[in-house]
Amino acid sequence: MTLVQLVYSSRPAGSPASRDLMQILGKARARNAATGITGLLCYTGARFLQVLEGERDDVCETFYRILRDERHIQVRLLAFHYPTARGFAEWAMGYAGTGDMGADVMRRHVAGGTSDQLGNDAETTTAFLRDLARSLASDTAPGF
Ligand code: FAD
Repeated sequence: MTLVQLVYSSRPAGSPASRDLMQILGKARARNAATGITGLLCYTGARFLQVLEGERDDVCETFYRILRDERHIQVRLLAFHYPTARGFAEWAMGYAGTGDMGADVMRRHVAGGTSDQLGNDAETTTAFLRDLARSLASDTAPGF
């Protein structure tokens, strides 16, 4: 198995209601569980940030489907790594919405603690998602 980790950001095509986010998440979790993909999806209020990890071909096929999805636009591939181990092994797709992004996690990664700067560069976004996953894991199970 060739393990890869992919990170991207995008903007929602409209203003997604929590029902829309639940639909995306429900489908994502079912399909990811079937192919062994793990990761975290974060909705900042302005952008989606997502990390996907798993077998290279499965992650690439999933990302191609995500790219074609009309529910978001301006998809930016930020990082594509070959890690030695999964960083998000516990979630078929964890989720963090605007209310889940603790101020302390935000402050550690973005000047002024506002989410606008997330999704621009690979390093900040990946570190933020890792830190967010840790804070969610130590808190409660992520998701709705
Ligand atoms: P179908 O379900 O046949 O849908 C085809 C197209 O119809 C979609 O691309 C979309 O444009 C549109 N569509 C589908 N459902 C709706 C709806 N309820 N409302 C409006 N339009 C709709 N999929 C994964 O497998 N894993 C993930 O981790 C993942 N993460 C995602 C993250 C984001 C931010 C978004 C927007 C989508 C994500 N998806 C994920 C969903 C993915 O884009 C595909 O829709 C899904 O994988 C199903 O693929 P499909 O080819 O069977 O599409």
